[in-house]
Amino acid sequence: MNVVFGPVPSRRLGRSLGIDPIPLKTCNWNCVYCQLGRTTPLCNERRLYVPRETILEQLDQALSGPLKYEIDWITIIGSGEPTLHSELGQLILDIKQRTQIPVAVMTNGALLYRPRVRRELMAADAVIPSLDAGDPFLYRKINRPWPRLTFQRHVAGIRIFNQEYGGKLWVESMLIAGMNDSDQALFDLRDRLEEIEPDEIHINVPTRPPAETWVQPPPPERLERACQILGESSRIISKPARLADLSSLPRLKETILEIITRHPMTEEELGEVLPGCSREDIREAIASLQAAGEARQVDRLDRRFWSSAKARYPLH
Ligand code: SF4
Repeated sequence: MNVVFGPVPSRRLGRSLGIDPIPLKTCNWNCVYCQLGRTTPLCNERRLYVPRETILEQLDQALSGPLKYEIDWITIIGSGEPTLHSELGQLILDIKQRTQIPVAVMTNGALLYRPRVRRELMAADAVIPSLDAGDPFLYRKINRPWPRLTFQRHVAGIRIFNQEYGGKLWVESMLIAGMNDSDQALFDLRDRLEEIEPDEIHINVPTRPPAETWVQPPPPERLERACQILGESSRIISKPARLADLSSLPRLKETILEIITRHPMTEEELGEVLPGCSREDIREAIASLQAAGEARQVDRLDRRFWSSAKARYPLH
């Protein structure tokens, strides 16, 4: 499967060409809301998971392919945590040498306490780390990190990175009903965010299948309250405005598998990013992927999503 995919619609980066340097699902966190299912087992080892040459070869193809003018951002977004790729810094520099399209890194930020990882991310145009909790207890409950990754290290890592960094730092906070959407939890979160001083705070809610069945988005009034408490630099991340049309990409089945492995989607959402394909063709491709043991359905948030068959979602 290709490690360069899309461009796919992103809720903040327009049409985003994804680079996935990490195999599903290699992560040092096991977030209850993770759209890629559970992390089993946790992994905190930095390694050369995918050779840089392989990534760059596929990137060159995408940058000269039929969708080259459809790319707003190049986003490094793993099927897990991208800073676990041991040559991430050089990869960013290699991308910057090839194109002027801005590069973003979506990361949980757990390794930003390490000076080397901070140095590697310096060349990116935007870094988007996560901070979902304002206290260690909620951090452990929501993010379920590798044991030696502490809340203190996490907040300090993002704060120090932002002091050194010249690009955009947008912190993403995922809110979950009944967990971190209370006034107290939001005030604690605000205090930590004030230490970090990000350019923007992106409030996100689970819209894709969460790892745990009980995870639900907060009601709209709690989201409004979150914006009030987190202040002017916060905004709720909404549905993407500009969808890329991926219908011109060859190999419908492979394109669908590449998308749903990184972004599980409903059949309707696949129809939106593949407007040139009939609903019947999409349905047939999904059925064939399912029959081949490559795709699976996941019922969450009262909707039916399709994901890679390798993703681990508990039924209860
Ligand atoms: S949401 Fe991101 S950080 Fe959390 S478990 Fe999933 S891949 Fe890892």
